[in-house]
Amino acid sequence: MLHTTPGFERIGEENAFAVLARATELAAGGMDVINLGIGQPDFPTPPHIVEAAVKALRDGHHGYTPANGILPCREAVARRTLATTGVDVSPENIMIMPGGKVTMFAAILMFGEPGAEICYPDPGFPIYRSMIEFTGATPVPIPVREENGFAFSADEALSLITEKTRLVIVNSPANPTGGVTPRAEIEKFAAGLERFPGTAVLSDEIYDSMTYDGEEHVSLLTFPELRDRLIVLNGWSKTWAMTGWRMGWSIWPDAICDKVRKLAVNCWSCVNAPAQYAGIAAIDGPQDDVEAMMAAFDRRRMLVVEKVNAIDGLSCRTPKGAFYAFPNISATGWKAKELASALLEKTGTATIGGPDFGILGEGYLRLSYANSEENIARALKRIGNFLAG
Ligand code: PLP
Repeated sequence: MLHTTPGFERIGEENAFAVLARATELAAGGMDVINLGIGQPDFPTPPHIVEAAVKALRDGHHGYTPANGILPCREAVARRTLATTGVDVSPENIMIMPGGKVTMFAAILMFGEPGAEICYPDPGFPIYRSMIEFTGATPVPIPVREENGFAFSADEALSLITEKTRLVIVNSPANPTGGVTPRAEIEKFAAGLERFPGTAVLSDEIYDSMTYDGEEHVSLLTFPELRDRLIVLNGWSKTWAMTGWRMGWSIWPDAICDKVRKLAVNCWSCVNAPAQYAGIAAIDGPQDDVEAMMAAFDRRRMLVVEKVNAIDGLSCRTPKGAFYAFPNISATGWKAKELASALLEKTGTATIGGPDFGILGEGYLRLSYANSEENIARALKRIGNFLAG
């Protein structure tokens, strides 16, 4: 019998990957599978970004880079941060990470231990809870409610913070709900945090450029009073359709910046060198492809909402951000995970059951609209027919 450490008895995973594997298996067996499960843009990375990586390889960028990333890449992130938030961040506080996820891994590892509490959004990205449990800290869900338009409530989040809370995680625009937390709520949250000066904050802003209907993304970075305890998670995966490149960045307060750099030295050494050059091209190059992708997402978003709301027993709020819709299925009488599984097995339509994002996800399905309008329409026809059954 092998004795692994207790964290490995508790570590979870992301069911979206299991759904993708099953969908691929069914497709390989000849089924016409439509995937509304996966959380990645269905667009290729824009060609000038790919070219920048190819050039970097040709130019001989084959070796290790500094653990926190090459300076030009960190400077590009600083430029982008200034452009999007108006906040001037030093490249010294920026870490280039192998994906957005690694920032949550590092932050949760830094603050989680038995006896500590970490608050996180529910429904929310499943890795928050999994990593909190891995460290032995107590996970404290912050409810994200449909009646609030899937924004988090500052009062509710603040009410859950105790003297044991080491870290609070928030996410807007949000996965899996597409909710965007409005400015007034973010301001209230930032002001309320003054009562808890020993609590760090992880703001997952990976969907910061993905909002609709003129909805504004308010970065917690714009609150100077939080800067000495704020970690901002961001990255290239979603905005530039680069999920497979494993490129993320994060912004760290002075006091712990060097700790995360040391974690990198101990674990991944540095991020893939040519990918970092691609990252610079993504930030500094033309954004036409990104704009075209967002216009397509916007059209699909309206299509999903229209088609879902036409199905008896389903109701769907119009998502304000990211590329997910989170319809309420409770009137169908189905348990969400059972419905997601039946839809995949019986109709070849991949979706994710809300409980894969937390206890409060029961009664919902996550539909990723990273698929063509034609496929979205076909998938919703299948779902409608199945439920009418
Ligand atoms: N944070 C949120 C809210 C996400 O939805 C995701 C990916 O789905 C990530 C972080 C991780 O992104 P990456 O693929 O860059 O690790």
